[in-house]
Amino acid sequence: MSASQLENLTVLGAGVLGGQIAWHSAFRGKSVVVYDLHEEGIEQCRIAQQTYAHIYMQDLHASEGMIEETRARLTFTTDLAAAVAEADLVIEAVPEIPQVKIDVYGEMAQHLPPHTLIATNSSTLLPRQFAEATGRPDKYCALHFANLIWSLNVGEIMAHPATADDTLLAVTQFAIEIGMVPIPVEKEQNGYVLNTMLVALLNAAQTLITNGVATPESVDRAHMIMHRGCATGPCGLIDVVGMATAYNILSYWGNENKDEQMIKNASYIEQRFLDKGLLGLQTGEGYYKYPDPSYQAPDFLDVPDISRAADLALMARLK
Ligand code: NAD
Repeated sequence: MSASQLENLTVLGAGVLGGQIAWHSAFRGKSVVVYDLHEEGIEQCRIAQQTYAHIYMQDLHASEGMIEETRARLTFTTDLAAAVAEADLVIEAVPEIPQVKIDVYGEMAQHLPPHTLIATNSSTLLPRQFAEATGRPDKYCALHFANLIWSLNVGEIMAHPATADDTLLAVTQFAIEIGMVPIPVEKEQNGYVLNTMLVALLNAAQTLITNGVATPESVDRAHMIMHRGCATGPCGLIDVVGMATAYNILSYWGNENKDEQMIKNASYIEQRFLDKGLLGLQTGEGYYKYPDPSYQAPDFLDVPDISRAADLALMARLK
C-alpha cells in the first residue's frame, strides 16, 4: 500500500487532460477507471492513449511490458455509478464550464463510497465554487496538471476553506507517487500559478491574431526567439491545450470580467476552428497541421534568405 493509500483512481472526462492523467497514473501503478458521458469521448481517449504509448516508449524508455501493464490497469466506462464504486480518489476533468462540473459532482455524490477523495483538474476555477456540490467539502481540493503530463510534471494543489488537512496530505502524496512535482497554491487564485501566467500569454497571442496584427507563425517565431530552446510558441500551445478548452476559458472569463477583447478572441476560435471541427493537436489541425507543424521545421527560427524580403515587406504594409 502506498503512503497516500489512494490506489484506485477514477478520472471523470476522457478528453485531452483526463486521458493523460488516466494513462500516466496507470503507468505509475494506479488502477484507473476512465469515465466519460459520451462513447465518442472514450473512443478518442483510446486513440490518444495509443499515441501516449509510443511517446512513453520513445521519451521515457518504457518497455513493451510496462506499456502492457499500463493498459491492463485501465478500464473505460460510460456508467458513472460503476466508474466510482471502488474509487479511492476521483479526479474530475470534465469541460471548464461551471454548470457541467456542478452537475457531474451532484450526480456522482449518490454513488461515491464514504472514504473517496475528489480533486478537480480545473485550469481556472476555484474548488470553493464546487465544494458544496460534491457533498463532501472536507474531502475535496484541486490537483491541477499541465498538458503533456509526462514531461511537464507539475501538480498544483489548492484547497478551499473547508478542505481537511488529511485530504491535502493524501492528494500531495498521490501527486508525488505518480511523479509530479507538487506546487502548493497558498492563496485561492483563479488560474493557480501556471495558468495565471499561461492564460495571459495565450490571450495576448490570440489578441494579436484576432486583431490581424501578426500571423500565428510570426507570433510564435517572435516568442520562440525570445525564449530560445522552448519547443513551441503560444499558438502551438493553443493547439496543444485544444480549441474546446481554449474557447471555454476565454468565453467564461471574457463574460465574467466583461472583457470585450477576450470575448472576441473566444468568438474567433469558435468560428475559425470549432465550427469546422478543428480541435487542435488532438484532431491533427489547429493553427498548425500535425504531425509536422511548421514551427518544428529546422529553419523556422533562421534568418530568411534575402529573396524572401519582398514577401515579408508586403506583409508589413499596413492593412
Ligand atoms: P476536453 O474538451 O478535451 O474533454 C472533456 C471531456 O469531458 C470530453 O471527452 C467530453 O465528452 C467529456 N464530458 C463532457 N461532459 C461530461 C460529463 N458531464 N461527464 C463526464 N464527461 C463529460 O477538455 P480538457 O481539455 O481535457 O479539459 C478538461 C478539464 O481539464 C477542464 O477543467 C480544463 O480546464 C482542465 N485542464 C485542461 C488542460 C488542457 O491543456 N487542455 C490543462 C490542464 C487542465
